[in-house]
Amino acid sequence: MYLVLQRLLSRFFRSFTSQHSEEIPNKMTLLVVLPSSASTSHVTRAAIGFSATVKFKADIIQGRRAILEELTAVKKHHYNYEPGNCAEAETYAWFKRTLPGQKGAKFVAVTSTLNLLDGTPEPICGQCKDLTRALRKCIRGVYTLDLRPFQQ
Ligand SMILES: [Zn+2]
Repeated sequence: MYLVLQRLLSRFFRSFTSQHSEEIPNKMTLLVVLPSSASTSHVTRAAIGFSATVKFKADIIQGRRAILEELTAVKKHHYNYEPGNCAEAETYAWFKRTLPGQKGAKFVAVTSTLNLLDGTPEPICGQCKDLTRALRKCIRGVYTLDLRPFQQ
């Protein structure tokens, strides 16, 4: 379903790339949250997020920071974008907002990110790796698995 959605969005956005490139996200990511303990609600949940668009970047990042205070712990690396720009930040913000407040609950969070237009796998950036680390530190019982190689 994730791949089908990527192909449909790619087909849709390709016709607008020349005039509206600043309004089209570069990447999309899938986050699947699997309960991994008996104390956890046995509902697997998933979300799809998108990278911030050039046109609304500041507002999008600010909105993500309001939900995901772990972003303040992430330092800017050599990339030309701020922490919170990536699609991962959107899905982590969703996860944080919907996290059940069960003590001792354990989850496995699996992510996979694609280039929105061409469908190729995108490596996790250092900022998102730091964000993942900060999230695990804040929410005990979350184990993360990224299905991509790390990008220096
Ligand atoms: Zn990133």
